[in-house]
Amino acid sequence: MSFSLDLTEEQTELRDWVRGFATDVVRPAGSEWDEREETPWPIIQEAAKIGLYSFESLAQMWADESGLSLPVISEELFWGDAGIAMSIFGTTLAVAGIFASGTPEQLGEWVPQCFGDPADPKLGAFCVTEPDAGSDVSSMRVRARYEQATDEWVLSGQKAWITNGGIADVHVVVASVEPGLKARGQAGFIVPPGTRGLTGGPKIRKLGLRASHTADVFLDDVRVPGSCLLGSKEVLDERLARGREGRKSSGQAALRTFEVSRPTVGAQAIGIARAAYEYALDYAKNRIQFGRPIIENQAIAFALADMRMEIDAARLLIWRAAWMGRSGKPFTAGEGSMSKLKAGEVAVAATEKAVQILGGAGYSRDHPVERWYRDSKIYTIFEGTSEIQRLVVARAISGVHIN
Ligand SMILES: Cc1cc2nc3c(=O)[nH]c(=O)nc-3n(C[C@H](O)[C@H](O)[C@H](O)COP(=O)(O)OP(=O)(O)OC[C@H]3O[C@@H](n4cnc5c(N)ncnc54)[C@H](O)[C@@H]3O)c2cc1C
Repeated sequence: MSFSLDLTEEQTELRDWVRGFATDVVRPAGSEWDEREETPWPIIQEAAKIGLYSFESLAQMWADESGLSLPVISEELFWGDAGIAMSIFGTTLAVAGIFASGTPEQLGEWVPQCFGDPADPKLGAFCVTEPDAGSDVSSMRVRARYEQATDEWVLSGQKAWITNGGIADVHVVVASVEPGLKARGQAGFIVPPGTRGLTGGPKIRKLGLRASHTADVFLDDVRVPGSCLLGSKEVLDERLARGREGRKSSGQAALRTFEVSRPTVGAQAIGIARAAYEYALDYAKNRIQFGRPIIENQAIAFALADMRMEIDAARLLIWRAAWMGRSGKPFTAGEGSMSKLKAGEVAVAATEKAVQILGGAGYSRDHPVERWYRDSKIYTIFEGTSEIQRLVVARAISGVHIN
């Protein structure tokens, strides 16, 4: 097969379908839900009704052997509006958590429950971060204790900053089974819908992604059946034994998930950046100052050229990482982190430039660029901050344990 960056017919159809939804449904509602700071249930329902918010749709995207379908549709949906798109997409992180560590049976049982059905859509949440364990995932305090007599796991502690936290039906919780082993002593657990002891804090008021629900999650002796441990007890016991002997293990629950999801998260950032770039380009062609459109000044035209170049460069890094991830190529230079790092920083820079190109109009809520500027900032923070992504890349390329 010859090298090509063309999307296939199937990928193009998928992209155009999501682009249509983003254009007709998501974009027009962006400002309203940002102001309301509420989960946009009617739009999630609409996405479920057309089959976009569904297990089947995600499975179809996952089946794409090139790995490009997920980043391509993520870019489109977040181009529409990031707060709404995150409300639709937040569940995917929980699904990625199940996918990274769960058995095929667990995938079959829990992933459909994360989505619900078109008449009654549900949400999933992936709970890793804690008040004292953000970038330093290894210092997690939420504990999971096994009770042999009842074959149950008992989870206790507090999670922080959880997308869909407390309003999700299925919570995927990463907890420490053996704190002495730090990250190697952690495992993922399903907390099924309606389990007693799990509660969510109030929705956090944020700079951006305001429609998306973010909250603390409290686990007060939450009991789940032994079968809710992602993977199996045998595999976990083996991993813990390897950890105790100081032998290498196959990876950590939270970090495995992030490897799978980083290029997709980068694609979300690119969606916001592209929205801002297109809007600014259009504005610059129409805004007249000194008797000519402002785009006729190199200062403006070059800014737009840079925006476009950076967006395209970031997308190429994302597509490479997505393809590598899907085809099992090892990220020897931290390519997954590289893609998310570049995309996040491009989104912040591009939206800031867009505000500048619109001048006063860019600073007002009458235009969407101020919202995109606010929304973009999270992409240098969550799923690993820019500093942590640089750490991953630097360690990968040098083999040195850089702090
Ligand atoms: C809107 C939103 C949604 C989120 N959704 C989820 C979710 O669904 N699930 C979930 O588990 N978490 C979620 N998070 C949490 C997010 O992943 C964390 O906020 C992020 O990992 C950073 O952790 P922290 O906020 O504790 O920052 P800290 O780790 O305290 O970092 C503070 C600063 O110190 C820097 N820093 C820390 N360590 C180093 C180092 N070694 N070298 C250099 N610099 C360093 C960081 O880069 C950062 O600039 C969400 C957060 C937000 C804001």
